[in-house]
Amino acid sequence: MRKAGLLLIIQLWAATFIRGQQIVPCGTDLYIQMQTSKDPFYLKRIQAAQDEINNWRNAHPEEVRSTYVVPVVVHVIWNKTIQNISDQQVQSQIDVLNEDFNRLNADTSKTPAPFKPVAGGISIKFCLAAYDPSGNPTNGITRTQTDVTSFYLGDSMKHTSQGGEDAWPSSEYLNIWVCNLAGGVLGYAVMPSVGNPPDEDGLVVRYNAFGRVGVLDPSYNKGRTTSHETGHWFGLYHTFEGGCLSQDNCDDTPPEAEAVYGCPQFPHISCSNGPNGDMFMDYMDYTNDVCMNMFTKCQCSIMEGVLNDPALRKSLQNSPGGCVGVAFNLDASISTVVFPFDTLDQQAFEPHVQLTNDGSEDITYVKINYQVDGQPISTYEYNGDLGSLQSIPVILPVYFTGEGGHVFYAWTSDPNHGTDQFIHNDSAQNTFFVKSTVPKNTNSIDSVLTNGPFTFHIQNPGAGIMHYQIVNVLGQIVFEADADIIQNSSLTVDLPDLAPGMYFIYGKIGYDFVKRKIMVAR
Ligand SMILES: [Zn+2]
Repeated sequence: MRKAGLLLIIQLWAATFIRGQQIVPCGTDLYIQMQTSKDPFYLKRIQAAQDEINNWRNAHPEEVRSTYVVPVVVHVIWNKTIQNISDQQVQSQIDVLNEDFNRLNADTSKTPAPFKPVAGGISIKFCLAAYDPSGNPTNGITRTQTDVTSFYLGDSMKHTSQGGEDAWPSSEYLNIWVCNLAGGVLGYAVMPSVGNPPDEDGLVVRYNAFGRVGVLDPSYNKGRTTSHETGHWFGLYHTFEGGCLSQDNCDDTPPEAEAVYGCPQFPHISCSNGPNGDMFMDYMDYTNDVCMNMFTKCQCSIMEGVLNDPALRKSLQNSPGGCVGVAFNLDASISTVVFPFDTLDQQAFEPHVQLTNDGSEDITYVKINYQVDGQPISTYEYNGDLGSLQSIPVILPVYFTGEGGHVFYAWTSDPNHGTDQFIHNDSAQNTFFVKSTVPKNTNSIDSVLTNGPFTFHIQNPGAGIMHYQIVNVLGQIVFEADADIIQNSSLTVDLPDLAPGMYFIYGKIGYDFVKRKIMVAR
């Protein structure tokens, strides 16, 4: 029975597509039928998810305005060279998703006036993943040369063993397979549900309907196939679902007798839905890319429901995938802990971290929190002006810890007194070891600017041999020596070969420890 059912569907499909070589913009409905023929509960699970989404929407009737982050991996599966689309074509699709879902697309003006009040967007950022599931840096694109000349709705492109590429965890990434999808189908998607195979959860798009640069089908050259399929992946039905019964779970999309193709004049009447007719410019219809320009507010609330449901796609917000390039407005990070590292011979130290602005908005304020192991947290407030993609070293107030091995942690919070939009790069850590010496006093002295010999005033350590080190901003010792010191004296150091830049001088006499920042300008 099962095989017969599947065969019948495939034959129907073949008959539909071969007749006239008609383009079918979306294979999702047929995919659901095929999956349900193999697993009778498949459709029920999708419907159950819709019920759960509606529960969430009923509990959150006000518009929810969170910013969501969706790391994307694009699997380019190619047999002919033309199918091995460029990085630029991939990025152009990410740009389209960000525009369409945020309603920042340039063609919103083409939304007919009667539909403008219900048009909507969600605050969402799609980005190519910066880290793969193993934590290694990536550009968010995999490329697989295959012997398979064309793919169908059977999901073989989603498996390395079948000439495709295995999925990355769908709880953490949106997987998009781009390949030579046959039969005139431009794409299909897996709708959210609990219990469907995670290794096939994503969307598939034909290579010449993906992005908006490159060699593209002239009717499908603005990236809207992927906007449509991503809409399905976030729980949306077609606007024409259920025909005139209007079963797309949305009241703000008019009943629509059947899919609308091409690029009709407004209004396009069906189901007695005049005067405004079908919402054929909705991304969830079948019109040409150039004629699509909107999601509705209801569709946006469904997608927010999916993004907020722990059983559906909320886990994307905890993805370690990160983003390539600037994907956020406000995104502070600690990119490196420069100091402490390796072995310290004192228990007091001034931590040194690299503060980075990974967002597009200048950072003028951010808290840098730090601690050793589980010891008390210290907080330093940065006030300055750190531009987009800029980094600066930050010296933090002194921290004391005991002998032995430790882990030093630093993390940002409250950038510009707001909410960091991407938290997975906020923190950094370093292990270090403290040897058995016990300083009892620490002097931090203001920095000096020098272009020649500099004098190091020793304020209160006792007399004796002071061992001192000059350390660069990377924590490397560039000079060290011993000097004979009498109490409250000074030491003059002349290092004519020291390159311009910032340094630290550390001095230790007995149990006492002094430090000074030096700016060398020549
Ligand atoms: Zn569809």
